[in-house]
Amino acid sequence: MKKYALPILMVTIFEIVAVVLWLTKDNIFYLFNFTYIGCAIALGMVLFVKRYKHARRIVQLLVGLYMLVYLGLICRENMQIEGFWYYLFTGVFEAATIHYAVAKIFGPLIFGRGWCGYACWTAMVLDFLPYKVPKAPRKKIGWIRYITFAGSLIFVSALFLMKVGNLERIMFWAFLVGNILYYGVGIALAFAFRDNRAFCKYICPITVFLKPMSYFSLLRIRCDTDKCVSCGACRRVCPMDVDVTDNSRKRVNGTECIHCMECVKNCPKGALK
Ligand code: SF4
Ligand code: SF4
Ligand code: SF4
Repeated sequence: MKKYALPILMVTIFEIVAVVLWLTKDNIFYLFNFTYIGCAIALGMVLFVKRYKHARRIVQLLVGLYMLVYLGLICRENMQIEGFWYYLFTGVFEAATIHYAVAKIFGPLIFGRGWCGYACWTAMVLDFLPYKVPKAPRKKIGWIRYITFAGSLIFVSALFLMKVGNLERIMFWAFLVGNILYYGVGIALAFAFRDNRAFCKYICPITVFLKPMSYFSLLRIRCDTDKCVSCGACRRVCPMDVDVTDNSRKRVNGTECIHCMECVKNCPKGALK
């Protein structure tokens, strides 16, 4: 039972959120939504425990497609950062704001950047590209994320300041165009830098929330230094260039860890967990 503790914890956390939101918002959608996401994540964890090699990808597809197709395209909810600003400015604490609070702002205090490894629909596509492990050194251009972050805020602020009408419709189109841009830029960068996760490392505005919060993450990969033989295998397979052998919070690229578990699977000494 002990090896299933984490999936049970994950289901429990999501179920608490589901029930609290269902009752406080008087909307059964939240019960369905968070139960579905919690179960999908827990299923992936169970598959991982059973050493199924595509466990993470299954969760990514289950959650990513649900959010992109069902919430985004069918329910017409802008779940990108522009949607977050939009609902925040209108004072509506509904889907996109709750999604950001749970997955990207406060949730990372518990599960770090689990969102990036198991749920993001942008990375869901990028992870199919050929450069799963970066083939070139990391670039010092992470500052671009602050420009895209500011750009999204300025775009939505301008719509409100100019009192543009029919904002719901504009936000839906912003969602479509935003996603096409993310995929286009993400795929181009992956090939240019020979790194599937280049978009995550340099461009994604959401990392402005994710990185500082995940610094304090409760769930972290830890290294048993007595078992570690410094072979470097964990570093070589890491898509995010994290030095996971350092247990301190200041480990190199520590706030980039997406909990993909590649390091754990490839450690020859079983030193990581
Ligand atoms: S960094 Fe951005 S694009 Fe990459 S997985 Fe996380 S949220 Fe998605
Ligand atoms: S793969 Fe394992 S043994 Fe090798 S450096 Fe990493 S933690 Fe140490
Ligand atoms: S390989 Fe390990 S350290 Fe790197 S992102 Fe995946 S879980 Fe995190």
